Amino acid sequence: MIKAVIFDLFDTLIYIDWNNYNKFRGELADFIGAPVDEIGFIWRKYRTKRCTGEIETLSEMIEILLDELDKKIDKDKLDQIIALEEKTLKDSIRFYPDVEVMLEKLKANGYELGLLSNASHNVGNVMEMLSWRDYFDHVILSYKVGMVKPDPRIYILMLGRMDYIADECLFVGDGGSMELDGAKKVGMITVKAAQANQDATETRSKNADYIVESIQEIPELVERINRERQL
Ligand SMILES: [Mg+2]
Repeated sequence: MIKAVIFDLFDTLIYIDWNNYNKFRGELADFIGAPVDEIGFIWRKYRTKRCTGEIETLSEMIEILLDELDKKIDKDKLDQIIALEEKTLKDSIRFYPDVEVMLEKLKANGYELGLLSNASHNVGNVMEMLSWRDYFDHVILSYKVGMVKPDPRIYILMLGRMDYIADECLFVGDGGSMELDGAKKVGMITVKAAQANQDATETRSKNADYIVESIQEIPELVERINRERQL
């Protein structure tokens, strides 16, 4: 029987409007006088270090970026860049429809809920925007625990906080960072959310026990799996 549902955050419950975000990237490139592609490349290169918390702040990341580009800027300009990036990320967050209704249904049916995200320091601001964040009994953001999906230890950490064993947990995510492979490895049942507006540059897990086209299908899917398992 499934008794708990663990969700990924980005491209599962929310997504980034990359058209909007990339406007910032263009402005940033002009501001520091470097090619936008190179900025994107360096940004991606340090993603794991941001998500494990090894790079602790946005200012540290911008300094690394400038260093790699061999550019120097003064403190005032650095502060401007930081403020602009924080604002751009917040302005670029979009929500998949009816997340709250979906979480409410699961809660009403008695399921324990978890949120497990590969996230960096700047997701703290994003979390505050999620009106439905209190539906989660347990929240693990990778930068706070120094581990990232698909490292089995981060799923085991979540299981340690939950009242149930892996086989009783459904893990729902878009598959980014190969997260479904990690969830499967520790024994969870996996669902791939193959929804619109997901980041096209992401490498994703191919295999999952179930696939949905919208996270709104999750409450119904959980009931169906539990009916099947009772037979
Ligand atoms: Mg994701």
